[in-house]
Amino acid sequence: MRMGTLDRRDGAGACVVCGSTDLRSMSSTRLLEGERVTVCGSHKVAHHRSEAIAKSVDELKNMVGERRN
Ligand SMILES: [Zn+2]
Repeated sequence: MRMGTLDRRDGAGACVVCGSTDLRSMSSTRLLEGERVTVCGSHKVAHHRSEAIAKSVDELKNMVGERRN
């Protein structure tokens, strides 16, 4: 049975930072070693604005994620 074909470019449909699944703003950014990760538009911009390129998803979260405490 077919579940409907979503056109998902990387097989990942959510921002790795905030978990947003708003397809209209989905984008991707590149980590230091060339790995592409899915992010929303605002976190892509945040990554680009930061001085450094994240080495990992965890570092990316630390750099651009909102702190919740
Ligand atoms: Zn995001």
